[in-house]
Amino acid sequence: TADGGAGPVKKRLGVMGGTFDPIHHGHLVAASEVASLFHLDEVVFVPTGQPWQKEHQRVSPAEDRYLMTVIATASNPQFSVSRIDIDRGGRTYTLDTLRDLRAEYGDVDLFFITGADALAQIFSWRDAQELFSMAHFIGVTRPGHTLSDPGIPNGGVSLVEVPALAISSTEIRDRVAQGEPVWYLVPDGVVRYINKRNLYRDAG
Ligand code: ATP
Ligand code: MG
Repeated sequence: TADGGAGPVKKRLGVMGGTFDPIHHGHLVAASEVASLFHLDEVVFVPTGQPWQKEHQRVSPAEDRYLMTVIATASNPQFSVSRIDIDRGGRTYTLDTLRDLRAEYGDVDLFFITGADALAQIFSWRDAQELFSMAHFIGVTRPGHTLSDPGIPNGGVSLVEVPALAISSTEIRDRVAQGEPVWYLVPDGVVRYINKRNLYRDAG
């Protein structure tokens, strides 16, 4: 063939899954750094429906989490947000996420981005083996957690260092509940959205 048999170059799509309750600069810097290091064409942020790992916690309405994710990513031409997990309903399983993204985006190379804490749990995820065949996994450093290869077969994981931001959504929620500022931990528009919708005011 004209291209020497290499075939057409596939689009490289990063996938950043999360509860995003709320999205913060730790998520954003991780996605940005991985996009640069792995020459990704796009990173799609996918807010979860009801996360099965968090069934005993209170999670904000999906529409609020979705809108905050849109607000936080809107100015970056490489970032987008998908409603697939929210609209599917029910519990979110990452295998469904990846299958639905494939169906929507066609034949792309998928790169699933996950922090060190989430990566360490990956074998507890449903259909772990099938997941590894659908996407390349990229584990990123996160302060307070040790990043290591959990034993994903065939070089299916890369470990990368990203700028360290010791920020978690849990801490943001706690700060808002205590009346402490969250400016500069999350994008300005997200601070304003939290205030407008009165999110996280009552501790719990
Ligand atoms: P919560 O405290 O509610 O669990 P979180 O800050 O851990 O919130 P999630 O939505 O649970 O945010 O995380 C989504 C993904 O982003 C996970 O893979 C997580 O490891 C990663 N992540 C979250 N915060 C950071 C951070 N500060 N640095 C690197 N990765 C992060
Ligand atoms: Mg988390």
